[in-house]
Amino acid sequence: MNIIMLGAPGAGKGTQAAVLCEKLNIPTISTGNIIREALKNGTEMGQKAKSYMDEGKLVPDEVVIGIVKERLAQDDCQNGFILDGFPRTIPQAEALDAMGVVIDKVINLEVEEELIINRMSGRRVCEKCGRPYHIETLKPRVEGICDDCQGALVQRKDDHIDTVKARLEVYHKETEPLKDYYAAQGKLTEVVGQNDVKATTDRIMKALEA
Ligand code: AMP
Repeated sequence: MNIIMLGAPGAGKGTQAAVLCEKLNIPTISTGNIIREALKNGTEMGQKAKSYMDEGKLVPDEVVIGIVKERLAQDDCQNGFILDGFPRTIPQAEALDAMGVVIDKVINLEVEEELIINRMSGRRVCEKCGRPYHIETLKPRVEGICDDCQGALVQRKDDHIDTVKARLEVYHKETEPLKDYYAAQGKLTEVVGQNDVKATTDRIMKALEA
């Protein structure tokens, strides 16, 4: 099954994608994680993306479209995948259609803005594998250490409050119109994504089975 996770930054897309990826045994493709990895490895693409990311802006469409095209061509995506954080603009969604990629379901995680701000400022991610945690709602087994790879948990620069607000503005302007785009294709399901991770996963699984 080919799935897109939509929603504001901080809505819990990454957390849910990580759970679904295990349940459905298909890979998650997170453009944010791929860009952060490129940045860590000092590639040219990473360098170019840095200033956009640090300011909470979107990286240009052609860069992310190229990343996704390359990633979807790999063998492990042939039985399905979860896109987390892509598409984020109408041109990105159109590019996906133009690649001939058939999307089965689009899950839009709806979360109140106040909760999002709280979530993002409390979010920590593994600096090695990118797995997300939260200081109150999604703690690792050992404080400050990733359950999966024992990497250190850190706060992303773009999770600082001013950048969070800028990212939410960009979301409303550029990404929210994708709800109508996929609703028009009959693929959109809205899922309430409040604090209980498992309850949200259950709602998503139901939506995927429908
Ligand atoms: P994320 O981890 O998905 O919240 O992404 C972090 C940052 O990476 C975003 O604020 C953007 O600067 C950049 N980014 C990730 N995915 C995309 C995308 N599909 N289009 C443009 N920029 C992106």
